[in-house]
Amino acid sequence: MSTEKKEVIFKIQNLQTWFPITKGFRKRIVGYVKAVDDVSLDIYRGETLGIVGESGCGKSTFGKNMMMLERPTGGQVLFNDGEGGRDITQFNREEMFAFRKKVQMVFQDPYSALNPQKKIYEAFEEPLKTHGIMSREEREKIMQRVLAMVNIQPDYLMRYPHEFSGGQRQRLCIARALEVMPEVLICDEPVSALDVSIQAQVLNLMKEIQKELKLTYLFIAHDLSVVQYMSDRIMVMYLGKIVEVADSRTLYEKPLHPYTRALLSAIPIPDIHGVRKRQILEGEVPSPIHKPAGCAFHNRCPHCMDVCKTTDPKLQHYGEEEQQVACHLYQNGGKGEQ
Ligand code: SF4
Repeated sequence: MSTEKKEVIFKIQNLQTWFPITKGFRKRIVGYVKAVDDVSLDIYRGETLGIVGESGCGKSTFGKNMMMLERPTGGQVLFNDGEGGRDITQFNREEMFAFRKKVQMVFQDPYSALNPQKKIYEAFEEPLKTHGIMSREEREKIMQRVLAMVNIQPDYLMRYPHEFSGGQRQRLCIARALEVMPEVLICDEPVSALDVSIQAQVLNLMKEIQKELKLTYLFIAHDLSVVQYMSDRIMVMYLGKIVEVADSRTLYEKPLHPYTRALLSAIPIPDIHGVRKRQILEGEVPSPIHKPAGCAFHNRCPHCMDVCKTTDPKLQHYGEEEQQVACHLYQNGGKGEQ
């Protein structure tokens, strides 16, 4: 994606999603799981924003927040529909219905995403009817167009999901999401349930479709090589917060945050002579219920300083590139650990 003339499609301000923990008959709230905790970020139209982090870091909850499948407990998500940003957390029923047509989701498991008792035709017809396309002829035209996009023959519409391979099913799920002509696709681990040999096929197809339809992708994954291949920008999350955001190349070549460096050191190098020093993180991932004071990463960080134990670092721009990092090594013009 070109770095010039970027148009913001989502403006996220202080987003938070806390799940209450209750106890006893009266369901007294005794704490919160802070799945997404004070996240602010702009997402640009036409880009692929990769979201990475360990399990439980809040990346899937963040993806669901962007579609209101999970309602945030605080903050704003302004969606730019071409007529200025409107806060999707305040949408009424009709507004939400119209919004959901513009933002679609592709889930991790293509096996459970399609009802085994329904033919593909029925699974594809339903969302079109829901969105008011009542002419059978028009619906069939749309179905054939989206099936052609994912290289599946139109006569396969009369088959059941079990007659398809995993890769074909995920292509069908992508096609179904495209039926209503969305502007944004949120992809939550879209290839992690597939064989490695099929993954590249699906990823290349997604790239082609994005180019053709000028879609914005939010690409959530734990496989860092896949994220690097797909993304223009990458956001790294740790315990519900953004710790680093940068364009894909900068992040992989010059990672700043100690957590990002540790994550990247785990990527295998496809060269028998290539050597990368693996950085093993000490300590346990803290519970999202009892986050440590200060920087949430401080109990595992090899560069921890006194200030890290008391003060939460803010996400700030660093250097000339559009790179932001939340770490005391880089705050107030600090030079960081090279
Ligand atoms: Fe490590 Fe401190 Fe940076 Fe946190 S703020 S990542 S503890 S150096």
